[in-house]
Amino acid sequence: MARRHPAGNFKNPKSFKDFKAFKDAGDDIGSTEINPIFARPEEATAFSKSHMPQSESLPETAYQVVHDEAMLDGNARLNLATFVGTWMDERANRLYLESADKNMIDKDEYPKTAEIETHCWTMLADLWHAPDPGKAIGTSTVGSSEACMLGGLALKRRWQHERKAAGKPADRPNLVMSSAVQVCWEKFCNYFDVEPRYVPISREHKVFDGSDLARYVDENTIGVVAIMGVTYTGMYEPVKRIAAALDEIQRTTGLDIKIHVDAASGGMIAPFIQPELEWDFRIERVVSINTSGHKYGLVYPGLGWALWRSKEWLPSDLVFTVSYLGGDMPTFALNFSRPGTQVLLQYYMFLRLGFDGYRRVQQTLHDVATYVSAQIGKMDDFTLWNDGSDIPVFAWTLSERPERKWDLYDLQDRLRMKGWLVPAYPLPADLTDVTVQRIVVRDGFSHDLADAFLEDLRTAVNYLDGLKAPMPSESQHSGFHH
Ligand SMILES: *Cc1c(COP(=O)(O)O)cnc(C)c1O
Repeated sequence: MARRHPAGNFKNPKSFKDFKAFKDAGDDIGSTEINPIFARPEEATAFSKSHMPQSESLPETAYQVVHDEAMLDGNARLNLATFVGTWMDERANRLYLESADKNMIDKDEYPKTAEIETHCWTMLADLWHAPDPGKAIGTSTVGSSEACMLGGLALKRRWQHERKAAGKPADRPNLVMSSAVQVCWEKFCNYFDVEPRYVPISREHKVFDGSDLARYVDENTIGVVAIMGVTYTGMYEPVKRIAAALDEIQRTTGLDIKIHVDAASGGMIAPFIQPELEWDFRIERVVSINTSGHKYGLVYPGLGWALWRSKEWLPSDLVFTVSYLGGDMPTFALNFSRPGTQVLLQYYMFLRLGFDGYRRVQQTLHDVATYVSAQIGKMDDFTLWNDGSDIPVFAWTLSERPERKWDLYDLQDRLRMKGWLVPAYPLPADLTDVTVQRIVVRDGFSHDLADAFLEDLRTAVNYLDGLKAPMPSESQHSGFHH
């Protein structure tokens, strides 16, 4: 255990009693009168990272140590890599504190929180044009990953029931999706024994659009995933075209294959700023949709939503019941206990912003995204991959210039020196030879910050252009999943 103490005469403070004795002895080091915070005994030493400390610390000391270590994390406002909410207003913060103890699963103990959860997903069912929002069914989750697992499980179980009813084997399910799916779909297939069938993206088909689909589906296909806001680039997959391709497949083969829409980001963007775009329950083939409340739902991390267009699409043998005010309430989720706070925060945001408020926020993000992408597109070194007009996310590549001595990974590192996190990474199959850099515009990335970023970007490019020799490079860059 590495313990240091500058005074040397109080080497191993173990408890408040020791601390008091130390203070009473009148030693200046650690005296709260002289230096109230950073020179207290426990802070003038280092805690072991591998053993739990033997004895207690003062609450202020433990707080300060954790606070200071967390301070070394990045500055979330400069993080242009994450999709996840990093800012909520004062009232939301107050609600968070007031309700941090609520457990979502205790529907009996917290019936109001349970009701509010139902209000939230019913509002989403309405927003996403469920034929009858009162007949839809949904649940909150810890994020889209869990929501996608639930969507996938419902597809799989329904397919199994149909196969068994028809006296056919149900042991080789597959799921068809783009090679650019978020990693949660790879996990779903791995954890729940489903064969993933990836449709590769290409320069001609930058997103999965349903072409060639007949080559991938068969009688063992439990469903097709369509993504509203591909994580790598922010582009929408054309759900309506994918559905039309499946209509055609049904006409020629009889296979009736349903769609789950992974709208982790787009589910809270498209309804507000592209209301005419049909991607949701307006398309009959779409049976379930997920979104991340903690992405463009504008809530702190820890919230997703999964919805089915009506109860028949969620097989009842997947649903458990918990007690609720003397009665029973259905639940379908992977977790048992989890925080209820985020659900209350989502409801707060729905009430606080309403449709018009969300539209204004998302339109502003869209404006910032298309402004920054246009500026980057004007720079000689860069070629836009897309412009941020779907979800406010866009990516660019380096334009051809043989004498250039740097790449996007070098640029990522230079920007990091200024605090900006702007990841560079290869695209998925079949475009792994293409490296892009991506910006996710979130609430809080204002026009002002955007201009500050652009200035730092230009400075970084000028610096790299002035290099006489190439930057030293690491052999392998890891993939990027979020
Ligand atoms: C972020 C994301 C996920 C995973 O969502 P979490 O809320 O982080 O679990 C799944 N799919 C897509 C398209 C995403 O962008």
